[in-house]
Amino acid sequence: MRRTVFHNALIGWLGVVLSGSIALAGEAGIFSFPVGEAGTPPTVAPSANGYHIAQGFNTSVDYLNGAPDGGWCMRNGAQDDRYREKSACEGAGGRWYYGHTGVDLSNRTSGGDVRAIANGIVRKISRNIDGWGNLVRIEHTLPNGEIVYSQSGHMLRIDAAVQEGVPVVLGQKIGEVGTTGNSTSPHLHLEVKKDNSNGPGYLFDDAGNQMKTFYDPPAGPPDS
Ligand SMILES: [Zn+2]
Repeated sequence: MRRTVFHNALIGWLGVVLSGSIALAGEAGIFSFPVGEAGTPPTVAPSANGYHIAQGFNTSVDYLNGAPDGGWCMRNGAQDDRYREKSACEGAGGRWYYGHTGVDLSNRTSGGDVRAIANGIVRKISRNIDGWGNLVRIEHTLPNGEIVYSQSGHMLRIDAAVQEGVPVVLGQKIGEVGTTGNSTSPHLHLEVKKDNSNGPGYLFDDAGNQMKTFYDPPAGPPDS
């Protein structure tokens, strides 16, 4: 299985030089962009990468102190800017969304390659769990030993070689950009998080507790 995965990685990945230590579950010493041209970062405006940041990371909401109304209203499957307060939104039958725990990368087209941002081990694949659509979560060990997880959602499909417990290498294709789950147009939702759960990512309070968000699926129990 490992040999097969690595072989696929070599075929699928042409743009990045693999490091000398080809440890299959190796340290995530190098990170790269998962869509478009790996050496060119996506920017807010369409860039040479081919993808742009359709929505960025938003930590503007203070969840611990009563969750002010920073956010937006979704009604009938679309953002409705006429309702700028939570109570008004919900009164009109909408749902209020707080914040955004990752970055949305889009070229408005389904089917582009989604690649692993670093070496790691696949810890979760799922299809249409909560609002994530097709989801892949990869565990990465940083050079200092810290563990982080990259989580990709809304994918059109997940590559057949990507299975839970299987190593992936930097740049390996893991799936394709899509709009499955809670998504209104093709994009990759990518976030980096500290816990191995389906829930949203890198939002922690001063005590180190993960905070809630209501944009993406609620935090669930850790997956083994
Ligand atoms: Zn997103």
